[in-house]
Amino acid sequence: MRWSKYFLYTLKETPKEAEIISHIYLIRAGFIRKLASGIYNYMPIFLRTLKKLEKIIREELDKKGAIELLMPVVLPAELWKESGRWYKYGKELWRIKDRKDAEFALGPTHEEIITHIVRTEVSSYRDLPLNLYQIQTKVRDEIRPRFGLMRAREFIMKDGYSFHSSWESLNETYNDMYEAYSNIFKRCGLYFKVVEADTGNIGGSDSHEFMVLADTGEDKIANCKSCDYAANVEKAYTKFNEVIVEDKKPLELIETPDKKSIDELEEFLNLPPEKFMKAFLVEDEEGILYMFLIRGDYEINEAKINNIIGKPWKMATFEALKEANIIEGYAGPIGANLDKVKIFVDYSVRTIVDGITGANKQNYHYKGFYWDRDLPENIEWVNIHVVKPADKCPICGGELEIIRGIEVGHIFKLGTKYSESMKAYYKDKDGKEKPFIMGCYGIGVTRVIQAAIEQNHDENGIIWTKELAPFLIDLILLDLKDEETRNFADNLYKELTDKGFEVIYDDRDARAGFKFKDADLIGFPIHIIIGKKNLKQGLIEIKNRQTQERVKVKVEDFWKALEDILQNIR
Ligand code: ATP
Ligand code: MG
Repeated sequence: MRWSKYFLYTLKETPKEAEIISHIYLIRAGFIRKLASGIYNYMPIFLRTLKKLEKIIREELDKKGAIELLMPVVLPAELWKESGRWYKYGKELWRIKDRKDAEFALGPTHEEIITHIVRTEVSSYRDLPLNLYQIQTKVRDEIRPRFGLMRAREFIMKDGYSFHSSWESLNETYNDMYEAYSNIFKRCGLYFKVVEADTGNIGGSDSHEFMVLADTGEDKIANCKSCDYAANVEKAYTKFNEVIVEDKKPLELIETPDKKSIDELEEFLNLPPEKFMKAFLVEDEEGILYMFLIRGDYEINEAKINNIIGKPWKMATFEALKEANIIEGYAGPIGANLDKVKIFVDYSVRTIVDGITGANKQNYHYKGFYWDRDLPENIEWVNIHVVKPADKCPICGGELEIIRGIEVGHIFKLGTKYSESMKAYYKDKDGKEKPFIMGCYGIGVTRVIQAAIEQNHDENGIIWTKELAPFLIDLILLDLKDEETRNFADNLYKELTDKGFEVIYDDRDARAGFKFKDADLIGFPIHIIIGKKNLKQGLIEIKNRQTQERVKVKVEDFWKALEDILQNIR
């Protein structure tokens, strides 16, 4: 490709809208242009990298026997109503109407559609397992689109769905996808970690996320320093050693005037936060009241609250609290009307001895609280805490650290969640109708590209690996007015492309420094520089963008030198 005839424009200035380096470089290097909030044009240079990534994905999935199809972006509401997600998904689901006022959604994910397809086409266990995927544009009306392609409102996803007649078969495909995803991200040159994940909006049991490690990542990961345990903080938990003492003090009402928060109480009573049990009170859409109890030094994990309640919720209203005999700011389980509130207690509470808890009486708390003596009977023990750095690993007891990651892939065991709600059945060996057992597997394709930049760049620009680079070689012509030099470069360009190399030929009428800057900014792995002065001495300069090494080689040694560099780049 001759740059003078190509459609590629770089920018000198840092764009105002971009906060993180990968976003800045995507714009400055001419890969994307913003059209609206969270909606981008993919420019020609971006499309080249995108196609390469798609090729890697297809190759690795095809190896595992997955089959590609393509579903629509515009999806009829009926299917979403069947699964119930039309009502649960919230505002991220971009809803539209046609001219006849019929409701549709712009697809954020395709469980409903694929389930509909398979229930229509497949009737027998003989046709299972099936593993279908697509690479397609997704639409989610994200509340806070940001960081360019990282959290966009329109983006490209690879989404796959598998159908089985047994859990063993699902497990096999799940492991296959785990392997395929690992291979894909390795080929992209990414430094990533696979972590246990929450199943969130999609539902189901087991789930893993593929996290590209980066300080700018939106996700937090609890990572064990001693063993393999790593989990999204939404899912992670620590293990508490319960404490039971024989010699218990009596429960005693103490006056705590106007002291409602743990901070205020800590100061007033001169006790550390570990001595307190705090209450978090919420109400679901049907008005059912929940009390979540946790040790004072831990935060409540909202993802886990979502999973326990399973429907939309809000902070408890004054009326609901009153009915349950609970006083806000002085709330606790003791004295509450237990018929009117469901109580869930975090395991951290099992370490509290001689603790403080609300007395459900204005301006009063209880002192001398012991979990094994003072909690009511009808409670459920749960892990709803957010893990903290230096907490213990639940598997090996080692130390946990909190690191940041970018979620680029996510795999789930869905089970029969969709097949049951959408009545997707097949006839099994025994002649009985059974719901398909399902898995689903996603890769944020456009997010992967930006994550690769976030991990591989320097102060001059992007550093692409061979597999994702839009062009492998930037052939830079200096002194283009000198005929001999230009002829030489023209010939070399032809030879390189004839040999199958992907070359962008910078034949633009521009200064040398300008061309070098662009080459670094866009991050082509190999720069070949043809200039009059060098050529007069029979020399060609080659730069390895990954190591920044520049070498001058004799014209006759050029192909050997290129071969060497190719061996040495990632
Ligand atoms: P997140 O937690 O980041 O919102 P998610 O868990 O909702 O993502 P999934 O439904 O698992 O996302 O989608 C599969 C993949 O699609 C994700 O792993 C992620 O890489 C990508 N993805 C999700 N939302 C976006 C978005 N708004 N912009 C770009 N990529 C996205
Ligand atoms: Mg996810």
